[in-house]
Amino acid sequence: MRLKIIILSSLILLSLCVLYRKYYFSTKKLQRIHECWYLKTQPKLQPSDWFYPMSHMNMTMTTWSAPIVWHNTYNESVLENYYAEHKITVGLIVFAVGRYLDYYLEDFLTSADEYFMVGQRVIIYVMLDDFSKMPLKYLDRFRTFKVFEIKRELRWQDISMMRMKIISEHIVDHIQYEVDFLFCMDVDQFFQDSYGLETLGESVAQLHAYWYRKNPSSFPYERNQSSEAYIPMGKGDFYYHAAVFGGTPIQVLDITRQCFEGIMKDKKKNIEAIWHDESHLNKYFFLHKPTKLLSPEYCWDSQFSKNSDIKVVKIGWHMKRYNFTREKP
Ligand code: UDP
Ligand code: MN
Repeated sequence: MRLKIIILSSLILLSLCVLYRKYYFSTKKLQRIHECWYLKTQPKLQPSDWFYPMSHMNMTMTTWSAPIVWHNTYNESVLENYYAEHKITVGLIVFAVGRYLDYYLEDFLTSADEYFMVGQRVIIYVMLDDFSKMPLKYLDRFRTFKVFEIKRELRWQDISMMRMKIISEHIVDHIQYEVDFLFCMDVDQFFQDSYGLETLGESVAQLHAYWYRKNPSSFPYERNQSSEAYIPMGKGDFYYHAAVFGGTPIQVLDITRQCFEGIMKDKKKNIEAIWHDESHLNKYFFLHKPTKLLSPEYCWDSQFSKNSDIKVVKIGWHMKRYNFTREKP
């Protein structure tokens, strides 16, 4: 009898070891699996619970019924109550390479600490090319930095495009286990007002401040038919700004992977889309419609004067007017 028990326990132990080697489960992973399962069994928040489209502005819903979030179209307390019950962690990934690290990172991080997802658990992923230049910061409660050193590409276009690859690799390696939602943002901008739960969604796109009122035929989409980013004239819904995009980690993984695949296919043909990663992002969102759009208030050119559409600027660009020539610092 005793021998049987010993053999049985050894077998159980052995199979656990085999399982561990195969799936590398950790208590953290198990905890997340349980959280995912728990969230799936809970009633989901519906747009009608928190989103109040304004009738006077005819830009609050897309033709595929995705909310376009403007200031004053959402009920913050409904969202806060919901997420108090359904605890989440929000990731924010930002790249600061070369002079962008010296010029913009500190402002970006300071302002994110003040305005980004206040009261929620936040992980800010900082990708930089020189650890020693990481600004020393004390973050508010519930906030963490994860800093990674990355290789610096020679051309700025490649720095911008390689973000897609690096983001996807980090999602696969660890981000998918660490956060429920992830935003990817340019560093040459800063938060100016509350950027909260109303922005969360499965796949989130940012309306570009220059083109949100314009006709699709005037959008600077890629028009070269040989490029993977090609969008035919007259087609397309909106022009999205690559300075902000996000969603669940799995969605962001799909976005970044597909954009990077497009970029690499183009490279093989010696093509570079007109606005680089942004052209590929626009193609992605043309094919796979985002589930939430953010109004230009969420990413506004601070050199533009506000118009009557813009009630509150949540993120402002730094003074680098790219004016189609895109001067680099
Ligand atoms: N970037 C960087 N160093 C560079 C070029 C780009 O860190 O030399 C990163 C940075 O996060 C920047 C983003 O890539 O915000 C996109 O580049 P940029 O802001 O110049 O694009 P634009 O806003 O002009 O479209
Ligand atoms: Mn930028």
